Amino acid sequence: MGLTPMMEQYLKIKEGYQNCILFYRLGDFYEMFFEDALTASRELEITLTGRECGLGERAPMCGIPFHAADGYVKKMIDKGYKVAICEQVEDPKLTKTIVRREVVRVITPGTVMDSNSLDETKNNYIMCVYGNKIGFSISVADITTGEFITSQTNDILGEVAKYNPAEIICNEYFYNQPVASMLEKQLNKRLDRYNEWAFEYATAYKNLCTHFSVLNLNGFGLEGKNLSTCTSGALIAYLSETQKNALKHIFKIKYYSTNEYMVLDLSSRRNLELTQTLREKEKKGTLLWVLDKTKTAMGARLLRKWVEEPLVDISKINKRLESVEEFKTDPLLREEIKEILNTVFDIERLMSKIVYTTANARDLVALKNSLANLPALKQLISTSTAYYQSEIYQAMDPLSDIYEMIEKSIMDFPPFSLREGGILKDGYDLRLDQLRIAKNEGTNWLNDLENAEKERTGIKNLKIRFNKIFGYYIEITNSNLNSAPENYIRKQTLANCERFITPELKSIEDAILGADEKIVELEFDIFCNIRNLIANEVNRIQETAYFIAMIDVLQSLGEVSDKQAYVKPVMNTEGRINIRNGRHPVVEKFCDNLFIPNDTNLDLEDNRLSIITGPNMAGKSTFMRQVALISIMAQIGSFVPAETADLCIVDRVFTRVGASDDLATGQSTFMIEMTEVANILNNATKNSLIILDEIGRGTSTFDGLSIAWAVVEYICELKNIGAKTLFATHYHELTELEGRLQGVKNYCIAVKEEGEDIIFLRKIIRGGTDNSYGIHVAKLAGVPRVVIERSNEILQQLNEADINNKTKNIAKTKKKPEEKINNNELEVIQELKSMDMNSMSPLIALQVLFDLQNKIK
Ligand code: ATP
Repeated sequence: MGLTPMMEQYLKIKEGYQNCILFYRLGDFYEMFFEDALTASRELEITLTGRECGLGERAPMCGIPFHAADGYVKKMIDKGYKVAICEQVEDPKLTKTIVRREVVRVITPGTVMDSNSLDETKNNYIMCVYGNKIGFSISVADITTGEFITSQTNDILGEVAKYNPAEIICNEYFYNQPVASMLEKQLNKRLDRYNEWAFEYATAYKNLCTHFSVLNLNGFGLEGKNLSTCTSGALIAYLSETQKNALKHIFKIKYYSTNEYMVLDLSSRRNLELTQTLREKEKKGTLLWVLDKTKTAMGARLLRKWVEEPLVDISKINKRLESVEEFKTDPLLREEIKEILNTVFDIERLMSKIVYTTANARDLVALKNSLANLPALKQLISTSTAYYQSEIYQAMDPLSDIYEMIEKSIMDFPPFSLREGGILKDGYDLRLDQLRIAKNEGTNWLNDLENAEKERTGIKNLKIRFNKIFGYYIEITNSNLNSAPENYIRKQTLANCERFITPELKSIEDAILGADEKIVELEFDIFCNIRNLIANEVNRIQETAYFIAMIDVLQSLGEVSDKQAYVKPVMNTEGRINIRNGRHPVVEKFCDNLFIPNDTNLDLEDNRLSIITGPNMAGKSTFMRQVALISIMAQIGSFVPAETADLCIVDRVFTRVGASDDLATGQSTFMIEMTEVANILNNATKNSLIILDEIGRGTSTFDGLSIAWAVVEYICELKNIGAKTLFATHYHELTELEGRLQGVKNYCIAVKEEGEDIIFLRKIIRGGTDNSYGIHVAKLAGVPRVVIERSNEILQQLNEADINNKTKNIAKTKKKPEEKINNNELEVIQELKSMDMNSMSPLIALQVLFDLQNKIK
C-alpha cells in the first residue's frame, strides 16, 4: 500500500519547508500533519485527530478553519515558530486529479502583515546582520511599511536596541561572534542563520539590482559599502523567499551612517528610558510617552524613530526646532491640523496590504478617506515660513487622482468580502451596469410571474421563493394543492406545503443567477484592477504618508512644548551646556508642579566634570538624567523643560547608572559595571556627555574609591578625553579633586536637618558634602530600629578613626545575633551618649558607671 496522492503532495511540499509549520489548505480548513500536527495541537490547544494516508497507521492531523487562520498564525509566531501557508492554486472544479497547491507565503516574526497582531505605533522590523573579518553591517526592513535601511557599524548591540527587531537573521561568521551570544543573553533575541550564498557579494549585488530593477546600486549610496551590500542582498533574498513576489513597496534602500545620529549604546538607551521603562518595559514613564501627542499611527512610528535617533547636525536640528516652534506658538493651527490628522488611517500599512493584494474594498475606502482632507491640510500650512512646513507644502502630493479613482469606483460602505459583489458604484463600468439591470429585471419578472400565477390558480398565498439547493420554486400550502395546475413539476414535499417549478420559472432563474455570478466575478476583477493601479503608485503614496507623519510629529512636539512650558534651546558649537532651571521631563509629570528645577553649567574649560555628592534619595540620579534627556530632546528637535537652555551638540551620551543586577547574562554586578566603564573610557570623545552614577561601589571601599578617582582623572584630563561629565558619588573623598584637577567642580544636593530627620530640598548647589545620610534614608525606608541604632553606633566608631583599623574592631564588637538589645540597654546607650565627660569629676563618673551597670545586669 502506498501513500495517497494527497499525502504524497503534502510531503513533497513539506520537504521544502522543514523549519516551518505547514498550513496545508484543504477546502475550508488548513490542516497540519505528522510532527507539525503534534506541535500545533499542543501549542494551539486544538484536537489531534488522524487521517488515512495510505500507510499502515493513520497520520496525526489537526486543523483550523481558514477564516480564523490569522489568530492561530499569530499564536504560532508568538511562540517562535514560522508558518508556511500552502494554498490551492487552481480551481478544484477545473481539475479531475488532485488540485495543485503551493506555499504562497512564509510568515515569520519579522514578516507578520496581519494588522491585528501588530502594534500600530511601532514598526515591526526584521534585521539581517552580517559580519566578516573587516567588520559588521546591519540591514533592517519593515514589510508593513516598505522601509529598508542599512548601515555598517560595530555597535550591533546599540543598533539592535534601537530597532528592537522581531526577528534577526545572520551569517555563520556573525553567529559565532561573542556579540551574537550577548544579543541572545542581554536582549533576549534569537538569531537564525541564513544561507551563506545569499551573503556573497556578487550574489547580493545581483539580487538587489534585480529587486530594484536597476543596473547598478550607485543611486542608493552603496558604493564602497560592500558589507552593507552583502547584508541587504541577503535580506532581500530572505524576504523574496518568504514573501514570494509581494515586495513592490520596498522600492528603495537607504544607507545611513551611525555618526549621522547621536550614539546611544545599549545601556544608555535602557537607563535613560527613552522608549521603554527599565523594569516594566512599558511606554508609560518614558521620554516617548511624554512627547507623544501624535494623532496617526505613522506619526507615532516616526516620533519613536526620532527619539531613538537624535541628530548631530546642527542645521538639521535647527530646522526641526524652527518647525516645532511654529506649531508651538499657534494652538489654533494645531487644532485644525489635529482634526484632519484624526481622519487619516495608517496609509503606510494600507499600502502594504494593497501591494500584497490582501486589501479589501474597505481598505481602499479607508485610503480614500485618509486622502480626502489632504488638500485642506496643505492649505493650512500654505503660509508657513518654517522649514519643514514650507518644504512639505511644496513637495506633498495630495494624491487627488488616487482619491478620485476610489471615489468614482468603490461604494462608500462596501462589504468586507470581495466575493459577494456590492463593491462598485453604479455608472463606473458599463458591463457591470448592464448585468445589474439584467438582474433587476429578473427580479421584476419574478414579481410579475408570482402575480400572474396567483391570478391563474386563484391561490392567494402562492409564493415564489429561493433556496440554494433548488433555486427558485413555487410554494403552495397543502390546503390549496388541489388548485395546482397540471404543468407544475413537483420538486419537494414538506409537512404543510409542496414546492414546484415550471419551465418559465427556470428560465428566469437562469437569467438572474447567471447575472449574479457574472456580477460577482466582474466586480472582483475590476476591484483587483483598481487595487493594482493603486499598488503601482506606491512610491508617491508612501512619500505623502511620510509627509503626513512628519507634520504629525512636528505638531506633537509643538503641542507638548506648549503644554509643558518647554523652551526652545539655543544650539552652540562651543561645547557649552548651560541650563537654567532645568527639569526632568518624566519625573516632573509625576509630581504635580512640585518639581524643583536646577541649573547646569558644563563646558570644555573649567566646568568639564561635576562631582555631585549628597544624601541618598536627594535627587542626584534625577538631576543627571535630566541633563542627558534635555540634550537628547534638543537633538531630536524638541523644545526642552527649562527656563533657558544653551546647548552644544553631544555626539554620544554614556550612562553608567545604578547596579541593576543582570543575573540572566551570567555576569556579576561589578563585572557589568566595569565593562560599562571600559566602554566609556574607550569610546567617549570630548564632545560626549557622560553620566556616572556611582562607580566602584561593587567592590571593597579602597578598591572602589581608587578606581573612581582614576576614572575621574582620566575622563577629565584634556589629553585623554576631556568630556563633559556628571559624576554622582558617595565617595566624599573625591571632592578633594576640585582645585587639584583642572575642570573639576564640586556640587551637592542640599538637605536640611531637622532634629533627627532630614528634609530633601532637591536643590543643587556648589560645594561638597561629607554626609550621605544613608542611615536616615534606611530609617525612612522602614529598616528595623535595632538595626538603625546599631548602624549609628558603628558609624560613630568609624568616623572616629582610620576606617581600615576600625573595621577590624567592628567585627569584634559586633554582638552575636542571639543577643538582642533590650530597652534597658538602649537607655544605657542613650545615657552614655549624652554624658558630658568633661564636666564630670572622676568620682561622679564612677558613680554613674556603677548605676548604669546595675541597670543592665
Ligand atoms: P540614590 O543616591 O539613593 O540613588 P538619588 O540622589 O539618586 O538617590 P533620585 O533617585 O534622583 O535620588 O531621587 C529620588 C526621588 O526624589 C525621585 O524618585 C523623585 O521622585 C524625587 N526627586 C528627585 N529630584 C527631584 C526634584 N528636582 N524635584 C522633585 N522631586 C525630585
